[in-house]
Amino acid sequence: AAAPVLNTAESERIFAEAQDLLPGGVNSPVRAFKSVGGQPIVFDKVKGAYAFDADGNKYVDYVGSWGPAIVGHANDEVNDALKAAIEKGSSFGAPCELENTMAKAVIERVPSVEMVRFVSSGTEACLSVLRLMRAYTGNEKIIKFSGCYHGHADSFLVQAGSGVATLGLPDSPGVPASATATTLCATYNDLDEVKAIFEANKGEIAGVILEPVVGNSGFIPPKKEFLEGLREITAKEGALLCFDEVMTGFRIAKGCAQEYFGITPDLTTMGKVIGGGLPVGAYGGKKEIMQTVAPAGPMYQAGTLSGNPLAMTAGIKTLEILARPGAYEHLERITNKLINGIMDAAREAGHEVTGSNISGMFGFYFNANPVNNFEEAATSDAEKFGRWHRGMLEQGVYLAPSMYEAGFTSLAHTDEDIEFTIAAAKEVFKTL
Ligand code: PMP
Repeated sequence: AAAPVLNTAESERIFAEAQDLLPGGVNSPVRAFKSVGGQPIVFDKVKGAYAFDADGNKYVDYVGSWGPAIVGHANDEVNDALKAAIEKGSSFGAPCELENTMAKAVIERVPSVEMVRFVSSGTEACLSVLRLMRAYTGNEKIIKFSGCYHGHADSFLVQAGSGVATLGLPDSPGVPASATATTLCATYNDLDEVKAIFEANKGEIAGVILEPVVGNSGFIPPKKEFLEGLREITAKEGALLCFDEVMTGFRIAKGCAQEYFGITPDLTTMGKVIGGGLPVGAYGGKKEIMQTVAPAGPMYQAGTLSGNPLAMTAGIKTLEILARPGAYEHLERITNKLINGIMDAAREAGHEVTGSNISGMFGFYFNANPVNNFEEAATSDAEKFGRWHRGMLEQGVYLAPSMYEAGFTSLAHTDEDIEFTIAAAKEVFKTL
C-alpha cells in the first residue's frame, strides 16, 4: 500500500512562526529534526502511548517526551495526584514532606543512594555531581566517554578524540578551553583505555561518569566486564564512579541500571522518569559523600524550584505505578517484541541492521556490524535512517528524529500498538 500522505499544514505554520521567536524554532535542538530532515511535527496533546499533532494526526509515540512518559502520557493517576497537589500551591521554596516521601522512594530503590538532592533537570544533576566529585576528592580531572551525554554543562561538552586518551577540546563555541581541559575522554566499552588514562594521570582523577547503558549514541549496552572493571579501577585509584542514570533510571529496572547489572557506583544522577513529566533531576549516593553538599557541607548547590510539590507529586506517583507487579515485565516483553519485529522486517527486506533492547529502552542501527561505542555507531547509514524516520511518521509512528537517540516504550503501549508498528515498519522497509 502507498504511504498515506501526511497533512502537516498546521505543523508547518506554527513551526515557521517559531523561527522568528525561538532559536531554530525550538527550545531544545533535536526537536528541530535537523539530522533527519523534513518538517518537524508540532504536538497538540499526548495521551497514553499516543501523540496527536496540530493537524490532528495520531502517532504511536516511541519518544515519550524523551523518557519521562514511562507510565503513559497524561496518566490518569498522575494527573489526579497533580490536580489535588496544585490546590495546595505549585511552589513552596520551603521544606515539605513530599520531599521526604520522594527521597525515601529513591533511596529504597536505588542501591547506591543513601541520601539525595533534588534539582530540576538532568543537566543540573550532572553538573552538580561533577562539582561534588571534585569537592569530595580534591581532584579536578574527570573521565567521560565519547557519545555519552551528561547535559550541557561546560565541562561535559567534549567528544573523544579518536581512540586515544586526549585532553578534551570543547564541542561548542562559548565553552572555554579551561573548562574542558580537565575532561578526559575515553571510548565506551574500552577498559584498557580507561586504565591507560588513570596511569597517565596518577592520583589526579576525581571520578568517572558514564551512561551505564548508552542512550545518546543510539542504544548501546555495556559489556559486563566494562562496568565491573570501572568499579574496580575507580575503587583502587581512589576515584568516584558515577552512573548517569538520567535515561536508564527507573526505566530498565526498578533499581535502575545499577540494580540490573549488579554494580553499585558511588554516585548516581537521575532525571526524566523521576519527574513523571515534570522538571525533576536528582543526584545521590553514599551519605558520607552527599554530606559534602551545602548546607550539610561546603559544596554549594541550590535551586528556587528544587523539590517543588508538583514535581515531587508526579515523581512519587510515577515511581509508585512502576513498582506494581508486572510493570517491568510488560516493558521488557513488548519492547523485545517491538525490536525483534522491526529487525526481522528489516532483514526480510534486505537491510542490514543490528539492535537490541533492555526493558523499555531500545534501538537499532542500519549497520552490518555490532555497535559497541559511539565511533562504531557513527558508521551506520544516517541517510537511510532519515528516510526510515520519515516513512514511519507517514505511517503514524513517531520515532526519535536522530539515529543517535534511543527509543522508549511505556506501560501504555499494548500488543496492538506494537503489531501496528511492526506492520508499518514492513511497509517502510520495502521502500528504502
Ligand atoms: N544525562 C543523560 C544520560 C541524558 O540522556 C540527558 C538528557 N537526554 C541528560 C543527562 C540531560 O538531562 P536534561 O535534558 O533533563 O537536562
